[in-house]
Amino acid sequence: MFKKGQKLYSITHQKCPHCHEGDFFEGSFFKAEVKERCPVCDSPYTKEVGFYQGSYYVVYALGVAVFVAIWVFIELFLPWVGFDGILYAVLTALIISAPFIYPLSKIIWANFFFHYNFGKTEKTHGETVKGEL
Ligand SMILES: [Zn+2]
Repeated sequence: MFKKGQKLYSITHQKCPHCHEGDFFEGSFFKAEVKERCPVCDSPYTKEVGFYQGSYYVVYALGVAVFVAIWVFIELFLPWVGFDGILYAVLTALIISAPFIYPLSKIIWANFFFHYNFGKTEKTHGETVKGEL
């Protein structure tokens, strides 16, 4: 569906944002533990200490997206459901989607800052790329 080189490929396949080949998460997707470096291209997955705290903004945005989607769906297709019904539906959807939203937010956040550069040499934070002096 998405091709290598597109950010959505990295996000949907949980791959390294730099090379789109190495795994992004340590172990299970649901544990949401990000590896320190890519096992394929050896690029770092972080820019600074606490880098992934910014992913909470993405969690918030995804939560709002789930809320709006449920709300619009109910307003369009189930108009007889009242406010309480919408509230319970949104809460249920958020509880069910939370284990997906949290790890997803981390890889989306990483893709804001890291770009696909497989096959190109690029300095990342003063580190020299192999073969370069
Ligand atoms: Zn990589």
